[in-house]
Amino acid sequence: MSNDTKSVIIIGGGLVGSLCACFLAKRGYQIQVYEAREDLRKAKHQRGKSINLALSHRGRFALRSVGLEEKVLENAVPMEGRLLHSISNATKSIAYDKHTNQCIYSVSRNILNEILLTAAEKYPNVKLFFQCKLKDVFLKEGKCVIYDSKTKEILNIEADLIIGADGAFSRVRRCLQQTPLFHLNQSYIEHGYLELSVPSERGHLLVPNLLHIWPRGEFMMIALPNSDGSWTVTLFMSLEKFKEIDSKKKLKIFFEQHFPDAIDIIGKEALEREFLSSSPNYFISLKCNPYHFQDRALIIGDAAHAMVPFYGQGMNCGFEDCTVLDQLLEVHGKCSFDIVLEKFTQRRREDVHAICDLAMYNYIEMRDLVTRPTFHARKIIDDFLYKLLPTIWLPLYNSVSFTNTRYSVCMRNRQWQNKVLSIGLCILTVILFVSIFCLM
Ligand SMILES: Cc1cc2nc3c(=O)[nH]c(=O)nc-3n(C[C@H](O)[C@H](O)[C@H](O)COP(=O)(O)OP(=O)(O)OC[C@H]3O[C@@H](n4cnc5c(N)ncnc54)[C@H](O)[C@@H]3O)c2cc1C
Repeated sequence: MSNDTKSVIIIGGGLVGSLCACFLAKRGYQIQVYEAREDLRKAKHQRGKSINLALSHRGRFALRSVGLEEKVLENAVPMEGRLLHSISNATKSIAYDKHTNQCIYSVSRNILNEILLTAAEKYPNVKLFFQCKLKDVFLKEGKCVIYDSKTKEILNIEADLIIGADGAFSRVRRCLQQTPLFHLNQSYIEHGYLELSVPSERGHLLVPNLLHIWPRGEFMMIALPNSDGSWTVTLFMSLEKFKEIDSKKKLKIFFEQHFPDAIDIIGKEALEREFLSSSPNYFISLKCNPYHFQDRALIIGDAAHAMVPFYGQGMNCGFEDCTVLDQLLEVHGKCSFDIVLEKFTQRRREDVHAICDLAMYNYIEMRDLVTRPTFHARKIIDDFLYKLLPTIWLPLYNSVSFTNTRYSVCMRNRQWQNKVLSIGLCILTVILFVSIFCLM
């Protein structure tokens, strides 16, 4: 069977689903994308879900493969490093990559999704259906039951392959869960997030082209730039603490105590309005295995690996899923999907689990460790060794954000680097003691 006679249903026209449609359309498959929400290009913007995202190397690589990188970067704002705000209003900047000046990009979720949907729609072999929600899947038969809320009809659709790109609460995954030997490890963390904003008129109060962080140990606030000069501010904190701040007075005391400089930047009234009218959103982290069912179904993106957002890798990792699927189709896709899907699970499992763990670790780094001298000392050593031995000593953040190195390899590299530094430190300490002893 040639690709043009094979059909694929993609559930979810979010970031990962629409990018996947572009990849598969290029290969000639007949694609139908079913998205539960209305077409965001026609709908008004909704507050609540992070409105800008950090795009890094893996995401850019995937976008480049379908010819969209340039268009996305035209609409993105480069971020060259972090700017730390202390309680005393002092700031300190830390470049992401001092030697090669690589940066990450802040991109609007909606603009990115619009670019991807429009690109997917241009392929004659892609059909997009909005307000069409998946209700059930019959995996063995490759059948989907979909409710079209425009016509109030139930649609029964069949395809050779069903791809679930339907986010963290994926219905396709729920069906996979009913198959034997499917493992799912799901956890919520006690912290949530709430979005605030700095309008473009006040945007100049923040230093441009940096990711701003207000690290406060147990919690933190960050700000990412938007292309119109405004900023999206996100406060990450325990759900209990959010609950405590339930009046203008408590909010004022809290911000004066922890984020004094941010009051003027956000604006007192806007802060009160935005904070007190919203409730925090929760985080879910989930790992599962396998990602496929026979030659019939596959889950990608958050459906397969929702992670906490502290490494800025959720979307990038989902985009990398599309790259990996495409590479496997190139090598093994001539006959049937079963080898491709099996290899996808084998290839992604270790990497995806590694980035889920790294994302959890990075919350501690961002909200707490960045304020400690040991963090800065390690950064100096890492930068020095990276400059000296660029092919051997790649710091963790750089390998995750600026290369395609498998996430599991990034993690293992960090482990051996830690060992080398510990041994080095022990040797130095011994030399120091021996020298002091000899001098006495
Ligand atoms: C606060 C926050 C900040 C983040 N920051 C970053 C960042 O800086 N960088 C980064 O890389 N990642 C970031 N992420 C993660 C990123 O948002 C996700 O990884 C990414 O959106 C996943 O895309 P997706 O397409 O897999 O899922 P989603 O974006 O959730 O899309 C799923 C789509 O499926 C549709 N759908 C759901 N159920 C059905 C159904 N039954 N039938 C039909 N359609 C359905 C939904 O309507 C939706 O459009 C962040 C996440 C959060 C919460």
